[in-house]
Amino acid sequence: MIDRSAFARYLTQAFSENGLTALLDADKVRAFAKLTDRLLGENEKYNLTAIRDPEKIALLHYADSVTLSAYLASGATVLDVGCGAGFPTLPLAIVRPDLRIVCVDSTEKKVRYVRETAALLGLSRVDARVMRAEEGGRDPALRERFDFVTARAVAELRVLAELTLPFVRVGGSLLAMKGKQVADEVAAAAGALSALGGCVAVTDQTPLRSAALGEQSHAIVRVEKVRHTPAAYPRPFAQITKKPL
Ligand code: SAH
Repeated sequence: MIDRSAFARYLTQAFSENGLTALLDADKVRAFAKLTDRLLGENEKYNLTAIRDPEKIALLHYADSVTLSAYLASGATVLDVGCGAGFPTLPLAIVRPDLRIVCVDSTEKKVRYVRETAALLGLSRVDARVMRAEEGGRDPALRERFDFVTARAVAELRVLAELTLPFVRVGGSLLAMKGKQVADEVAAAAGALSALGGCVAVTDQTPLRSAALGEQSHAIVRVEKVRHTPAAYPRPFAQITKKPL
């Protein structure tokens, strides 16, 4: 079990240094502490995160994930592609109970972890499913059904665009969380974005601030869906990666 009062300080600090304080209250701090106990407990059994220090988890997993909140309209439907151990899904669900979040990953073990963790935290509007994005994007029940699609650390943008834009409704947006290479990725993805019905990306490169851990690079790319995705996409995964658009 983590030291709850130290963790509460780390979390409050990480949120306040990054303009996120309005998203936190005492109940949410308790929920994040419970999430951290669960994450670190399960991480002993199988690999969920390389980040094991609660202070780093508060900044690099939790504050990082909830920076997306500013983009998400109240009551929006969100699909998180490649959610892994539940990032950004679980932190977003804690701070934004208004959202309905479907999160998918191709790895069954991770999805089971996220599903059980959401239940443990009472996050009833999270729906975790085992799915390959390129297959789900062809399912009429999911295709162009989401206001927002999020993805953190899943693939380079031109590959990610084909995995994610098919799910976004026209008028909605893809929100891709990226690292230092973001400008190059956006430039390389221009053709892919327009072929898939997306329009030129807007990038926010405000770093994550932390006096204790130092400034961390952080970027959010927003791609607006302006046209329907042609029926030819998404292609099978081998083609997406071997012949990116
Ligand atoms: N978003 C999480 C996990 C990133 S790791 C985080 O930021 O911590 C990338 C995850 O994407 C892995 O769990 C992997 O299983 C998943 N993934 C990769 N390609 C995928 C695909 N085509 N469909 C579904 N999940 C995929």
